[in-house]
Amino acid sequence: EIAFYNDSFVDINAKVVPIQERAHQFGDGIYEVIRVYNGRPFYMDEHLHRLQKSAEAIELQLPYTLNQIENLCLEGLERSTLKEAEIYIQISRGIYTRQHHFPEPSCAVFTMTIKNARVIPENKRVNGMKVLTTEDDRWKNCYIKSLNLLPNVMAKQKAKVNGCDEAVFHDDGIVKEGSSTNVFTVKNGILHTYPALNGILHGITRSIVLKLASETGIEVVEEPFNLDFLYEADEVFITSTSMEVMPVSQVDEIEFSTVRPVTDKLIEQFQALKDDVITG
Ligand code: PLP
Repeated sequence: EIAFYNDSFVDINAKVVPIQERAHQFGDGIYEVIRVYNGRPFYMDEHLHRLQKSAEAIELQLPYTLNQIENLCLEGLERSTLKEAEIYIQISRGIYTRQHHFPEPSCAVFTMTIKNARVIPENKRVNGMKVLTTEDDRWKNCYIKSLNLLPNVMAKQKAKVNGCDEAVFHDDGIVKEGSSTNVFTVKNGILHTYPALNGILHGITRSIVLKLASETGIEVVEEPFNLDFLYEADEVFITSTSMEVMPVSQVDEIEFSTVRPVTDKLIEQFQALKDDVITG
């Protein structure tokens, strides 16, 4: 495992972040997480472009070009020697006296860690995850992959203490996304998910799944739906870079069948995409 802070590779445990770094004083920055299978980054271009989009949205000038960032990731991967890894990239607005307005001149700081991928227990993929729903108390720009994750942290902790794996945000009854995942339901063979508006993160896994679905002839509806629709779904699953396509077995008090043809099909197709990367 290895890290990078502000122009150099450092030990993963090195203490390198200065007190007045804005990432930890304000959460003033953005991030990305990229999964690596068999030493090969998965959908790296898409992640880097989303990073650029997040940077533009907060008027942050990236300290490196996307090409340079890609090369840093590849160099880091090689130095780490890891095969099943997660690349975490963070860009903060830098180090400055603690004042809210932007530093002048701009001085963004690039941070990266490359660590072993979190292992998702295989029984979760078979049995499914339990989720609870919770009011979405986040800001209106959740399409930005911002470092401000306090509501997500609170929601995930609420899930954990209630014996669940994930919390699903709803805004006045409209189902948005999970605390670190996107949410899908299947009803009568049709796949439903909240549209890619500003109120959710436009997950890379979400867009992969939508593409796989349309290639398979599964009808897709990207329109808001409410909690009752979620409870009455035939199948529910969540997606993310680290969880991939993950079935849901329970939402609040409602249990779901383990017969889930659409979810299983998408898991199978997602695995085929991974296999393409793994075998090069
Ligand atoms: N929604 C939120 C709030 C997230 O934090 C994440 C990822 O961490 C996702 C959705 C899933 O996005 P992706 O598939 O790009 O990992």
